[in-house]
Amino acid sequence: MESTNPFQLAQAQFDRGADLLGLPEHVRAFLRWPMREFHFRIPVRMDDGRLRMFQGFRVQHNDARGPNKGGIRFHPNETIDTVRALATWMTWKCAVADIPLGGGKGGVVVNPASLSVGEKERLCRGWVGAMWRNIGPRTDVPAPDVGTTPQMMAWMMDEYSRLVGQYTPGAFTGKPVGAGGSLGRTEATGFGVVHTVREAMKHLRINPRESLAALQGFGNVAQYAAIGFREILGGKVACVSCYDATEKRSYTFSHPEGVDARFLQTITDQYGTIDQAKAKAAGYLLEDGSAWIAKEVDVLIPAAIEEQLTAETSPQIDKRVKIIAEGANGPTTMEADEIIRQRGIFLIPDFLCNGGGVTTSYFESVQNDMNFHWSREEVLERVDQKMSSAFQAVLEMSLERKVSMRDAAYLVAVDRVVKAMQMRGWV
Ligand code: NAD
Repeated sequence: MESTNPFQLAQAQFDRGADLLGLPEHVRAFLRWPMREFHFRIPVRMDDGRLRMFQGFRVQHNDARGPNKGGIRFHPNETIDTVRALATWMTWKCAVADIPLGGGKGGVVVNPASLSVGEKERLCRGWVGAMWRNIGPRTDVPAPDVGTTPQMMAWMMDEYSRLVGQYTPGAFTGKPVGAGGSLGRTEATGFGVVHTVREAMKHLRINPRESLAALQGFGNVAQYAAIGFREILGGKVACVSCYDATEKRSYTFSHPEGVDARFLQTITDQYGTIDQAKAKAAGYLLEDGSAWIAKEVDVLIPAAIEEQLTAETSPQIDKRVKIIAEGANGPTTMEADEIIRQRGIFLIPDFLCNGGGVTTSYFESVQNDMNFHWSREEVLERVDQKMSSAFQAVLEMSLERKVSMRDAAYLVAVDRVVKAMQMRGWV
């Protein structure tokens, strides 16, 4: 890619899928761009009495299969192109998971850590004040993303309910349990990653009990992927890693007997940073942050940030590696994707692999509609069913068309969206 603009990447990936599907020009033109975009200014009264203006966005990429769905990101470098890309990927993610939702994403240009609790609440309410006519359980359902939290979703849901004049919990998902949130949401993405790895192992005839994994990251996704790898699959985790904001560098943590993720959770802060001294005292070995990628393991799970498997780093992948499960969004560059494909490593693409989170968000809105809450076991059982059938649909497509799992995921997702548009008479 000449440019790292994320929306150009999302469009280039879509074009590749559209070519494989042989989509006609007018259908491509429809799907290459979001259907609707909202750009708005949010006035917020700061604690010192001054009024400060914030830039807000909401992009609704496509709602042929159901209401738009996707998080709201609070980030100082947020741009409309990032939001467009993320909204586009949400359309494919919901379609591949086969949940009746479309793609959306929102954002505010702000560093949330620079705001007081009261300022954050007023900014959240201000976002809803600008958007409430264009969102809702049957229109567009936002959720948390980078820089936003369940508490913020509770404020947003409250503001929406106040403006429409009735309690409407299904207008936002990712709410705290007790304020309309769903049990199982915390574990869902990481466990979903493990469900797709289990299905890949069945296909490749790998015994999960004899398998070893190396993970990058130790935030929400990586913690539960590591726990699930051991508790659901019976495998062993060789290492996890994290970024230390004070030292401005990352570390890989390994243990000769395998990583105990439940123990590490007790010495990890809310940002996913593991306490180095306590880990060393418990017998953990600390290496450079890049060490995870070269470990002699069966499964690599990048579950931290984007662009970690690149043309430079992917040659370090050990020859024992058979599966790469993309827990993170966009961890593999186009160049690395090609290297991995040529080496014959089975890659589970991000919008299939990490779809457990949005699936549980969907279950949260279903529970809100029913006004009845499911048990944690029921939620997680349903996530497993959805992830397994999504995986099977993509695997079948990959075998039938003799394409990679990433291309197959695009084929399945784009085809489902196009069919819904055709049935509704849009194209
Ligand atoms: P998080 O903020 O909870 O954790 C991120 C982790 O990555 C932290 O442990 C951090 O220390 C680590 N990290 C950051 N930079 C690193 C580096 N250079 N080297 C090693 N470790 C590094 O985030 P999360 O919610 O776990 O999300 C991780 C990824 O998964 C993101 O790409 C996110 O978009 C994606 N994702 C998350 C969810 C979800 O439900 N949380 C759903 C779908 C996709």
